[in-house]
Amino acid sequence: MYIKAPELYSEKKKSKALALFLFCALCGLISLSGTDEEPVLSYGIASKLIVVDPGHGGFDPGAWRGNLLEKNITLQISKKLQAYLSGGGAVVVLLRENDEDLAPKPFKGSVRERKRADLAARVQAANKSGADIYISIHANADVSPRWSGAQTFYNGKSEASKILAEAIQDELTRVLGNTKRKAKTGNYYIIDKTEMPAVIAEVGFISNPAEARLLTDSAYQDRVAYAIFSGIIKSQSKEIPEKEAWARVKELSK
Ligand SMILES: [Zn+2]
Repeated sequence: MYIKAPELYSEKKKSKALALFLFCALCGLISLSGTDEEPVLSYGIASKLIVVDPGHGGFDPGAWRGNLLEKNITLQISKKLQAYLSGGGAVVVLLRENDEDLAPKPFKGSVRERKRADLAARVQAANKSGADIYISIHANADVSPRWSGAQTFYNGKSEASKILAEAIQDELTRVLGNTKRKAKTGNYYIIDKTEMPAVIAEVGFISNPAEARLLTDSAYQDRVAYAIFSGIIKSQSKEIPEKEAWARVKELSK
């Protein structure tokens, strides 16, 4: 966990700024409003264990258009999300760091069986880790090129997943400014079987040429990752009474 303060601050000013920041963070007063901001300590996610699952990989490219593969976009955005979350003080488990699937190797069986084993391994890894939150990153595709927009999905039986999905959707809408989609329930194995609040974030449609171009742009990927990060924080922020917040600030600045 760390807080980046401007270098020109004196130590005294720094600790005052730190105390003020912590107070605001504890009270949930800090609102993150852009991708230019430094990673910040967030009381909401500090020390939380968060599984980030880049969809597809290896033999399974996910959706594709030409040489644009979903598995590459999901990995790039997941790594950016991992960086934001770690910067915010969370412990992050990234389920894959390379172009690979998670099925046992060597795998004997059909492609369909391998896909099933891959998904089962992701769920098992998340459940075994005892994570507080599970985020699966995907990109969408449709036969028609007209559809666009990032959208989150959650298991309708989980209220905590709903809160998380709606908070992330709100931030995707606010930060990206190009989707009016709403968080939606969905019957997907991966959010059905994971035992913690879980969300699938479909970051956009690679079947829409304009959005496909955005999704391969590193700066846009950054904004997507930031929006998801910010949504997670907002879903976790709890109102703390002022007195208690100051007591914690005192404790932390000792
Ligand atoms: Zn996918």
